[in-house]
Amino acid sequence: MLNNNHIEIIKSTIPLLESAGPALTQHFYQRMFSHNPELKDIFNMTHQKTGRQSVALFEAVAAYAKNIENLGALATAVERIAHKHTSFNIKAEHYQIVGHHLIETLRELAPEAFTKEVEEAWTEAYLFLAQIFIDREEELYQLREKATGGWRGTRRFVVSEKRPESELVMSFVLTPEDGGKVLDYQVGQYLGIQVTPSKADNVEIRQYSLSQAPNGSHYRISVKKEGKGTEQQGLVSHYLHDEVEVGHAVDVLPPAGDFFYQESGKPVVLISAGVGCTPMQAMLQKLAEENKTDPVTYLHACENELQHSFIDEVETIVAAKGWQQNVWYRSPVNLDGSNNSSVGLMDLAQIKDTLPIHFGEFYTCGPVAFMENVVKQLEALGVGRDRIHYEVFGPHANL
Ligand code: FAD
Repeated sequence: MLNNNHIEIIKSTIPLLESAGPALTQHFYQRMFSHNPELKDIFNMTHQKTGRQSVALFEAVAAYAKNIENLGALATAVERIAHKHTSFNIKAEHYQIVGHHLIETLRELAPEAFTKEVEEAWTEAYLFLAQIFIDREEELYQLREKATGGWRGTRRFVVSEKRPESELVMSFVLTPEDGGKVLDYQVGQYLGIQVTPSKADNVEIRQYSLSQAPNGSHYRISVKKEGKGTEQQGLVSHYLHDEVEVGHAVDVLPPAGDFFYQESGKPVVLISAGVGCTPMQAMLQKLAEENKTDPVTYLHACENELQHSFIDEVETIVAAKGWQQNVWYRSPVNLDGSNNSSVGLMDLAQIKDTLPIHFGEFYTCGPVAFMENVVKQLEALGVGRDRIHYEVFGPHANL
């Protein structure tokens, strides 16, 4: 259990942590993967190459140290991370391995500052936090296992349909091989998909938002071919697009995620860019199914008409319900004015008089730079942060 002495020691090591920066977590990952290569089958190895995962973990460790006296401030982050962990099927025993390499990393990088007392304080602090995650994750695993259509770990699904939604995005309908029901989910949540691409050295797990409302029998995900035509082709997305056909099977982890639509009886604005529109499809469908009577606005930005996914699906719902849709094409192929489209980046000031600025709920998903810009625009218009909800398709970033 953490005592005051431990807390004081943890606080005293914050400057040391900050001076080490993400080099600390980079060292940690290198150490862990060299000693425990089996974990390469769980972690996203591309994120190791890009360094994004090290930055995300460093920020999490630093946030923990800084909030060690006020852990309530971390509740949202803990919930988000616990959900993400379950989509990787992280187990209690993994925490022992991670904890060991974290402590040894601190010892190796700061041998003089890493006294017996510091070791004890960080060990206790780590165990304390690990237990919070282990307990919450176990709770989530059990909830999903016990619910109708639920399961724990991986379950085999067959691709029953593969359909292009735009130039870069392909939908995959996944039906359980065992013919059973599938677990319902909250619209906005994602699945973990576990595959072994032919070009991969390891088993790879990726998250994909569910792109339709729940139906009890199958799931739909919609995947962008990342880095198409470049030297840095996304491993799993290319594999899914190029090699996974109807009839092929993939291993699926149950729906997870703390970003989901919550009914508040208020108008809703769904704001996406690129493939960030996937959770918005699930939300839009669900709102339509539930005959939401408050205004719903669907805002989307993408490169051009060819990269605009779900055009017909959205148009059908929006037209049937009399809801609002606005689209921005950064560089249109040819603009015919359909879908209320404009040229350029999303500019909310253009349509501010049509938005529920003072009481609506705003959900956004897309590249981090896009969402940062959207949040800035919304704040400038007077939307409070508590009404802006967002999902990052990768290692977390605070907007
Ligand atoms: P990776 O191999 O993981 O590469 C990731 C990126 O890094 C690519 O852009 C690639 O071009 C680049 N890259 C590769 N190698 C290097 C290198 N050496 N240096 C620098 N850059 C490099 N994606 C969707 O398409 N649809 C969704 O609905 C969706 N939902 C998501 C929901 C959540 C909650 C999360 C966390 C992610 C979601 N994603 C979604 C993203 C998805 O999980 C994958 O990250 C994405 O498909 C890329 O995986 P990949 O294996 O193809 O690319």
